[in-house]
Amino acid sequence: MMSNRNQLQELQPNVGFLLREAAGYSRVLQVNLPATTLADAVQVEWLRGQMKLTSTRQGVWVDSELEAAILADCTRCLGAHTLTLAIQLQELFYYPPSSARGPSDYVVTEDGILDLVGPVAEQIVLRSPLRVLCRPDCRGFCSQCGQNLNLGSCDCEDKATDPRMAVLRELQERLSDE
Ligand SMILES: [Zn+2]
Ligand SMILES: [Zn+2]
Repeated sequence: MMSNRNQLQELQPNVGFLLREAAGYSRVLQVNLPATTLADAVQVEWLRGQMKLTSTRQGVWVDSELEAAILADCTRCLGAHTLTLAIQLQELFYYPPSSARGPSDYVVTEDGILDLVGPVAEQIVLRSPLRVLCRPDCRGFCSQCGQNLNLGSCDCEDKATDPRMAVLRELQERLSDE
C-alpha cells in the first residue's frame, strides 16, 4: 500500500507556497494517477486532469477539472465495463482550519496540506450512474435459460408462450394440415 499512498500525494499538495502569496496568486497543478484506491470501494483505473489553486483571503480556492475511469458492472450482462466520468470541483478550502464556519467546510490543514482525495471520491460516487450498460444494445441474459445473449441466442425465444402467439400458431398448424 506504500505506492498507493505516494500516488495519492498528487491529490494532497502542500499549498504552503500559495498561502504565503497575496490573494489572487494562482498555480495550476497536473494530476495523472494510475490505478488507485481513493477510498473504501472507490477505485479508479486512472485519474487525470488539472487543478487550479488560487490564494484567497479565506484560504485556497480550488477549481479542478478531472477525468476518472472506473470499472463498473453492466446492469444487464454483469460484464465489467470501463466508464469515464468528468469531475469538476469548485471549492474553498479554509485556512487557517479554525476559520471554517462548519464541520462540512473543507480546510487546508495546519501544516499546509490541501487534501482532495475525499472530495474527489465523493464526486465519483455521486456521478456513478445506477444503471450501466456495456453497450447501448446489450442483450443481457435470457430470463428463462440464463444464456448470455451477447454471445449467442438461445432457443427460448421460439418457444415463447405468449398466448396470442400460441393461438396464431395453432391456427397456422391447422391450416397447413389441411
Ligand atoms: Zn452488458
Ligand atoms: Zn433462453
